[in-house]
Parts: sequence; C-alpha cells; structure tokens
Amino acid sequence: MNTPKKVIIVGGVAGGASCAARLRRLDEFAQITIYDRGPFVSFANCGLPYHVGNVIPQEPSLLLASPELFRDRFNIKVKIHHEVIAIDREKRTVTVKNVTTGESFEDRYDDLVLSPGASPLKPDLPGLDLPGVFTVRTIPDTRAIRAWIETTQATRAIVAGGGFIGLEMAENLRHRGLEVGLLQNSAQVMPPMDAEMVEPLHQHLREHGITLHLNRALEGIASGPNGLTVKASHGNDLHADLVILGLGVRPETALAKAAGLTLGARGGIQVDDQMRTSDPHIFAVGDAVEVKELITGSQMLLALAGPANRQGRIAADAICGRDSSFRGVQGTSICGVFDLAIASTGLSEKALKRAGMTNYEKVYLHPKHHVGYYPGAQTLHLKLLFEKPSGRILGFQALGKVDVARKVDVVSALMQKGGTVFDLEEAELCYAPQFGAAKDALNYAGFIAANHLRGDLPLSHWDHLTADAFLLDVRDEDEFAEGHAASAINIPLPQLRSRLAELPEDKPLHIYCGVGQRAYYAVRLLQQRGYDARDLSGGWLTAGMMPPRL
Ligand code: FAD
Repeated sequence: MNTPKKVIIVGGVAGGASCAARLRRLDEFAQITIYDRGPFVSFANCGLPYHVGNVIPQEPSLLLASPELFRDRFNIKVKIHHEVIAIDREKRTVTVKNVTTGESFEDRYDDLVLSPGASPLKPDLPGLDLPGVFTVRTIPDTRAIRAWIETTQATRAIVAGGGFIGLEMAENLRHRGLEVGLLQNSAQVMPPMDAEMVEPLHQHLREHGITLHLNRALEGIASGPNGLTVKASHGNDLHADLVILGLGVRPETALAKAAGLTLGARGGIQVDDQMRTSDPHIFAVGDAVEVKELITGSQMLLALAGPANRQGRIAADAICGRDSSFRGVQGTSICGVFDLAIASTGLSEKALKRAGMTNYEKVYLHPKHHVGYYPGAQTLHLKLLFEKPSGRILGFQALGKVDVARKVDVVSALMQKGGTVFDLEEAELCYAPQFGAAKDALNYAGFIAANHLRGDLPLSHWDHLTADAFLLDVRDEDEFAEGHAASAINIPLPQLRSRLAELPEDKPLHIYCGVGQRAYYAVRLLQQRGYDARDLSGGWLTAGMMPPRL
C-alpha cells in the first residue's frame, strides 16, 4: 500500500469542512487534519443574524458538525483554537499556534488547502473598536451582540451598510424590538442590484420601521453618557446603544501572501479551475479566492456559501487525482428581508455597463407568482437582461414575497448551460394553480424578450425617454386618472382602432399600460398599421420603481 497522503486544511467551516468530508469519501487512507483558530468548525454563519433576532433561539442549532463527529464519522482530526500562522513551501510544513496556550509547532503536509474565509471590513475611522460596536462573522460575535442587547437593555441600533449582512441584521434587531436605522453610503441598499429593483425593498424596510439613511457614509463613532453617537456624512449625528458594521468583507490572504502565493488583481488568492494556487501543493477555496465571472470572463471576489462548498469538493477531487473543475460563478444570491425576498443571478444592468457591454436589452415584468384566480397570488417584480441578437441570458433579478428563489434558480441553471431567452420561452416548468401558471412568469419573460428579438415587440424604457417623447397610455380612463406620466395622452385599448387619427405617424409612439400586456396588444395593432410603436417595458408599475420617480 502507498504511504497515506497527508492533507492539512486551514479553516473548518464552509469550504474547509466540505473539502475534508469529500476527501475522506474519496480516500479512506488519507491523513486529514483541519485547523481552525475559532472555537467551532462547520457552523452556520448564514444563520448568525437569525440567532441574534431569536428566530433561531438556540445557539447549538447553528452547529452543523462537531470535532467529535469529524473524528468518529470521518476519521478526520479537527484542532479548534489552532491558528496556522506560517507556511514553509520548501519544507511543506505549516506553523500552528495553539491560541489558548500560545504554544507553536510545525506540521507537515503533502497537500495544503486554505479556506480562511473573509474578514469584515473595518475602515480606519474613529470609534470602530468601542464597546457596543460589532461585526458579525462568528458565534462569539453573536454571543457578544446578544449579551450587549440584554445587559445594556439596548433600544436603539444603527446598522452601517445595506448589503446582505446589514439587511439581515437590521431585520433581526427589529425582531428584538429595537429601533433600527440603516446607514448606506449610496442611494440604494443592496448595491449590486439595479436601483429600480431595490425601490420596493426600500418601501418594505420603511414599512417595517427601519429608518433609511441613504447617501450617508459612516465617518466615525463616539461614546458618551447617552450611548453611542454615530457620525455620518450629509446630516445630523445619529444616536444608538449598539452599532453593527456590515460594510463588506475582505478576503483573508495574509497567510497566502506571506507564503509568496500569487494574489489576483482583486486582492484574492489566485487559483486555477481545480482550485490550485501558484504552488501545486497548495489549494485555496471559498471567500479568500478570486473566481471567474461567467458572463464577462473577468475575475471577481464572491463571498457566498454555495461556491465555497463546491470549491471545497473540487479541491478534494484534484488532490485525489480526479479532473473535475470549477466552472466559475454567476453570483446567484438571495436575501430575505422580513417577508420579502430579493434575488439575482448573472450581471445587473449597472455591471453590464461597467463591463462596457452595450449589446444588451432588458425587459421588466410584474406577474403574479401563481394564477390570479387562485387565492393568495402575490406580485413579483422581474428584470431580465439578455444579449442582442443571440438572446443569451446575461442576468436576472427578482423581488417578491413568494417563489423568488425558484424563479432565479431556474434562470441560473439555464444560464450555466449558456441558455437563451428562446430556451426560457420553451422552459417546461411545473404547474398547478397554487404553484404557478400554465404559462409561467418565466415563460412570459422569455416570450417578451424573444418577441422583441424577432421584431414583433419593439421596446422602450422609462429611463431612456427624452423630454419630447410621445407617450400613449392605453389603460382605461379611471386608471389614467389615478396617475400617469405627465406628457402622456390616454386612448384606452378598446378605443384605439377608432382614434388612430390622434396619433402622429412621423415619430415613435412609446406605449404603456399597467404592466405591459395591453401595451403589447397596442404595439402589435399599431405596428401592423405602419406606426413606429414601442412598448414601455413593465408599464406604469415599472415607471413607479424608477429613481427618481417620474
Ligand atoms: P468561512 O466559512 O468564513 O470559514 C473560514 C474559517 O477559517 C473560520 O472559521 C476562521 O476561523 C478560519 N481561519 C481563518 N484563518 C485561519 C488560520 N490562519 N488558521 C486557522 N483557522 C483560520 N452566504 C450565502 O451564500 N448565503 C447566506 O445567506 C449567507 N449569510 C451569511 C451571513 C453572515 C452573517 C456571514 C458572516 C456570512 C454569510 N454568508 C452567506 C457567506 C458565507 O458564510 C461564506 O461565503 C462562507 O462561509 C465562506 O466559506 P469559507 O470556507 O471561505 O470561509
């Protein structure tokens, strides 16, 4: 029998634990050791905000596997409270420090896997280390936050940062009954998403008692007799008993950098598609690495649990001589905020613009999540971005109360296979009245986009309209009376054929209704009569989401 392979894994949570367990399944004889500097391995970081909010009341629910389970089930050695502080690539050893005793020792590896994660950003601003100011990464962090709320009887919180963790913490602090203010240095929370898709989320946050402080950057925190004073740009000081920093994360690369491993332009560890670093005996996975973004092919950082787990498996495969490879990422993600979900896959419109991609088109739609006649139908807000003229899907964003994950997951799976809007038209999805529609919202997204590419549905957009654009509102008079675009004329769809004389023949007609269906009929009717008729995508509902409001 060959000498057993010795594999050391740094970090025993998402990527590291996944890698260790797969390694064991592939190689019964490998000697596998996980070092983690923290008190736990394999804990549910994604559940931490909900433990603060008492939605997950018991801390042990967050512990997915213990060192004993790794030992007994997998014959894997787990050393918690042990930090790997150096790598000697020549000798293939790591220096490990027992953080409880301070003692250090060396351990030898044949292959080393780094899964050290990403640390919360803490900019160099005054007061960020004051008591009562917290980041959220570990179980000790949640213990400290819960203890602070309880011992100080905190009633006011400021959450700095409106990304995933900031939003989840804001929600959960409301669950604990605190007054919550959310500080965000741009005009919208969830900055990766397009602004108009986030507008209903702003409304939802306000409805749930969260005060939004948009376009305000954290400048520092001071402590006084009445608690913490949060200084932020463009406005008054804010007062709180507790401040959560959710300002983003930075890949933990100190160990890799000190060992001379190559880092990428985004600051993450550079790896090939088998998760191998610039040293063939060292692999890296998870939040610490740079990954290929599949639409543009550029490198990016992505701190999400799914990719970390998949990369852990692929590193294990590579160590065991298998040839699986990591495909890259689309950034498929979802965030729940009270009873609303916001999710996306692929690139947003702003990311497409940043990447210099101009040959794209977009459609908006606002369907019910299942047939309208079945009780409980909820509106979804969907935005599909696709390439012209191929129809390749470039990105998809969804917001709503029900079925958001399913919609985004279907598009994500199609995108991974290079899917187009024509595939979406033909997607075969399950249907019964309580679950969807015979023509699912996703089929509709495909129909609209494919109709456009076939020339049957010219599109226009609220954010592209010029001041002299001719706007035609084809809703009924009572709907028009309730609110309409300032310059629009109203000809309800049933009257359109008899009132054609009111329409100019020498300029584009930008046509809208409530969400787009009647406008589509109007476009078809007028297009076949020789007019330059265009559908204002997503109708009046989309107009209401556009910042600033029309
Ligand atoms: P981690 O899971 O962070 O594990 C890294 C481990 O390495 C840590 O335990 C650390 O102690 C240890 N370590 C670091 N350096 C050393 C060293 N030198 N020696 C020894 N040990 C070391 N993702 C989602 O997809 N969905 C979500 O809903 C979601 N929610 C989240 C909520 C919160 C509050 C947080 C913090 C993260 C959330 N994430 C979510 C992100 C997700 O948890 C990470 O993407 C994922 O855990 C990354 O896995 P990883 O293995 O790279 O790093």
